This record gives sequence, C-alpha cells and structure tokens, in this order.
Amino acid sequence: MLLNIKNLTKRFGGLTAVSKVTFGIERGEIIGIFGPNGSGKTTTLSLIAGILKPSSGEIIWKDHDISALTPFQVAQQGLVKTFQNPQLFPELTVAEHMRIACHLHVKRALGVGRLRTLFGKSMTGDLENTLTRKIDQMLELCRLYKHRNDEAGALSYGGEKMLGVAMGMVCDPELLLLDEPASGLGHDEISNLDAVLRDLRTHGVTLCIIDHKVGFLGRLADRSIALHHGAIIASGTTADVLANDAVVTAYLGK
Ligand code: ADP
Repeated sequence: MLLNIKNLTKRFGGLTAVSKVTFGIERGEIIGIFGPNGSGKTTTLSLIAGILKPSSGEIIWKDHDISALTPFQVAQQGLVKTFQNPQLFPELTVAEHMRIACHLHVKRALGVGRLRTLFGKSMTGDLENTLTRKIDQMLELCRLYKHRNDEAGALSYGGEKMLGVAMGMVCDPELLLLDEPASGLGHDEISNLDAVLRDLRTHGVTLCIIDHKVGFLGRLADRSIALHHGAIIASGTTADVLANDAVVTAYLGK
C-alpha cells in the first residue's frame, strides 16, 4: 500500500470536519473522493498534504507516519497537492511558473531552497538543462507547451487550472492529490483534462482526485470513497459507490 489513512479525524472547534476516515491507495490507482459541499473532501486532502494537522489518526506513507511533517517535507516524500484555483502571477509566463515550481529539485540538487537560485548564477549548466527538459516535458504532457511563453494572465480558466497540474507534476510526485480539477470547466476542457490525467497515470503517477460532480470523476476513478458530514458512507469500485443508496441520498439532500 502506497498510502494508508487510519482513523483520520480533524476538528475545528466544535465541528468535526473529518471523522475517523480510513482508506488506502495502491500504486498506479486513480482514487476518487466524492461528497457534497462541506463533506470534508478538501480538509482530507489538506491533512494528507501536511497543510493541516490531524486532531487524531495516522497518515502512513510507505510504512512511515508523515502526519507531523510540513507541506514541503511531504512534497519531498513524493506527495503533492494541486489547488482548486492556483494562485498565479499574471505577468509571469507559463514557463516561469514552472521554473518556480522546480524549487524542490533545486533544493535536492544544490541543498539550497531559495527562489533566487532558480534564476541566479549558482545553477550549473547541467542542472539548468535538466530543469528546462523537465519543464518542457511536463508542459507537453499537460498540453501547455504551445503556451510556454504566454503570460499566465492570458490563459483561459482551464489553462490556469492545467498550469496548476503541470506545476504539481514538475515536483516529481508519486501521488498527485487534485482538488476539484474539473470545477468550472467546459465540456471540451473536461475531455482534455480527462486525457491528460490518464496520461499522467501512464506516466507512473498515482492520482487521488476530489470532486462533487459525478460525471467526470465517475468515468476516471478506479475506486472511490464517498464522504458525508466528514465520514465515509461508501467505498469500493466507483460504479458501486455512485450506485450506493446512502450516496444518492446524500447528493440529493434527502
Ligand atoms: P468540502 O471540500 O467537501 O466542500 P471542506 O473540507 O472544505 O468540505 O469542509 C468540511 C467542513 O469543515 C465544512 O463544514 C467547513 O465549513 C469546515 N471547515 C473547513 N475548513 C475550516 C476551517 N479552517 N475552520 C473552520 N471550519 C472549517
């Protein structure tokens, strides 16, 4: 098991946002997390990524509990979370954003983590070439290569979200956690996203994706869990989860 979540619980004051959530992810899977708004999906991913600290429970990554690590340390372990709406710099180009996202590599290669290093003289020719190759490869994979010299402010909404995915991919994740990658996208953009995510899996990346829309994720995910009021109400193959009576009721709000 690549990732093993055991009894994960997060309380905000009197509210239990995530309640005793237990599930595992095998290498190479696409896992879906469904649930209506407020059911605890984002909190669960933020706990896994180290952005929030659990109130109790364990997050076991390759046999080690990572629940006390910082987000940067978690990313160094190979678990990377993309954001629903990435915060971009409108005047920087797509390629420049990718370069900033490379700071993990630079820290590993040079032992320093300052952003200035990415644009400074301390970068050796070899590292520079490696980063450029990696950036181009990931932009190709995410169908953004033709936009590499465009300013981020000129991208469509779908392009911005895809740049968020590409920036996550350049950190070399073994497990990529995606927070509502399809929200706000049109039909063609969702088809494009579907194709890119399938390519990422072919590329060896395990994916854990949250969404509250069943169409896109229902087709993509091998297995799923459904959350309601912070607790798992169904798990199994995605088809079984989406056909589960408790899940249907939670979605329809009855
Ligand atoms: P989802 O992603 O399924 O829409 P969230 O994980 O964002 O749900 O939220 C789950 C619950 O936790 C909601 O009731 C939300 O209001 C609450 N919540 C999330 N983050 C915080 C926070 N930082 N402080 C207090 N309550 C929060």
